[in-house]
Amino acid sequence: MNAPTPLPATAAPRRWKPAPLITGSAALHVGAAAAMLVQPATWPWATGSVIASHLVLTAAGLWPKSALLGPNWTRLPPSQHSDDRRIALTIDDGPDPEVTPRVLDLLDAHGARATFFCIGELAQRYPHIVEQMIARGHAVENHSQRHRHTFSLCAPGALRREIEAAQRTLTQISGTRPLFFRAPAGLRNPFLEPVLCDLGLHLASWTRRGFDTRERDAGKVAQRLLHGLAPRDILLVHDGHSARGPDGEPVVLSVLPALLRAAAHAQLQWTTLRAALGEITPEGRQENAQEKTQKRAEIPARKAVDAAPFDKI
Ligand SMILES: [Zn+2]
Repeated sequence: MNAPTPLPATAAPRRWKPAPLITGSAALHVGAAAAMLVQPATWPWATGSVIASHLVLTAAGLWPKSALLGPNWTRLPPSQHSDDRRIALTIDDGPDPEVTPRVLDLLDAHGARATFFCIGELAQRYPHIVEQMIARGHAVENHSQRHRHTFSLCAPGALRREIEAAQRTLTQISGTRPLFFRAPAGLRNPFLEPVLCDLGLHLASWTRRGFDTRERDAGKVAQRLLHGLAPRDILLVHDGHSARGPDGEPVVLSVLPALLRAAAHAQLQWTTLRAALGEITPEGRQENAQEKTQKRAEIPARKAVDAAPFDKI
């Protein structure tokens, strides 16, 4: 394994542009305060509308695919190619010492590239697996340092500490600065987007997921991922916290071969989120160029894609 490359330049911050729901809620707060000052008798209406706006903001944060609190990748952005067959596989909650190496072997066997949303603390525990992800041509992105389920309840300072810690950890181990963040369980609050902008990160969720941390039936997981599968979809599976099938096997390991075969049969091409970003932003293009140079030296030739169709699982 090559030694990690020197740390890249710091993230280019993005300018935070509040989403309409945020500016609307702020205006409503100001309006409610003004109304109560001018006409104190309006307080029940003013207070009620402020509470209602908080409920809407909370609901938007509890809906992982919502873009109401700010930009959120739920599909790959369109490319300039007329026949766009790209698709992205994202793999969360690792690295896991038992599952991830087997996932990497499966991806290699099918010539597929994936985006791993890693947990910082686990990356510190198993750095050699993260190095393998990079060496085999995959992308490593930020899934928080500790994957706390209370993440979406955190104030801006705590959100920032959690995300920055993972940025440091993953950059040091992989030699590549994460460009994407996925919130634990996809849950967030209105304070997240300004923090991500400041750290130069993009929020990513998914198009479809198989609930493979809970569902023990690999066939059902595959069905959820494959039904209606289309170019530009972002799929979510887990190498960490994977449910176990009746045979004790992690469900993701039973699902991946069928998923990879189905994608090959449909002539879909696996890409990473940062490669897709590279097609639309100068920042992503720069990162991609750096990575391609690095990977050309590291990655052996890949096997041809197995074109057997998805039939049963
Ligand atoms: Zn997770």
